[in-house]
Amino acid sequence: METADLSLPLWIRNSDSFRLLAGDDFFSARLLDSSILSGSLLCDGIGDLLSIEHTGDLDRNRALAYNLLQGARARISKTEFIACPSCGRTLFDLQSTTQLVKQATGHLKGVTIAVMGCIVNGPGEMADADFGYVGSGPGKIDLYVGKKRVKSAIPQKEAVDRLVDLIQEEGKWIDP
Ligand code: SF4
Repeated sequence: METADLSLPLWIRNSDSFRLLAGDDFFSARLLDSSILSGSLLCDGIGDLLSIEHTGDLDRNRALAYNLLQGARARISKTEFIACPSCGRTLFDLQSTTQLVKQATGHLKGVTIAVMGCIVNGPGEMADADFGYVGSGPGKIDLYVGKKRVKSAIPQKEAVDRLVDLIQEEGKWIDP
């Protein structure tokens, strides 16, 4: 199109005609199809319109489209979360903790929050997160604003609430 000097919108379609993966879990297989086929284009900045036509379930299709756009950073419509993959150093259950953080903060459009399992490598791997929730000892959490540690050794039980307080203090909070 560039060679032909054509300036037309590009429509990325995800439909049953474009399947890469089979699988028992239909939705997960289509999620992977769309991520591979469309997410990579979006990451390259290609595409003006995205449609998801797999399931016949409009809500699921819409959720998948939004997640694709957010994952490719083509359109930010909710909180961005970064979590470490977890390893032998991880100081809390990463999945359930990330879920708790998501429940409290998942409506903060454009805010990036990192949940990292340890203080050894966590702060260095938080990329450009606005806030960090980092395990600093057994049952203890440190909180970060950007790369700066602002709260140390908070009891894990109250750490999500303290994170919300911190987001409020930094002026990034909106009520759900
Ligand atoms: S941040 Fe820490 S706990 Fe998470 S994967 Fe890296 S070393 Fe392991």
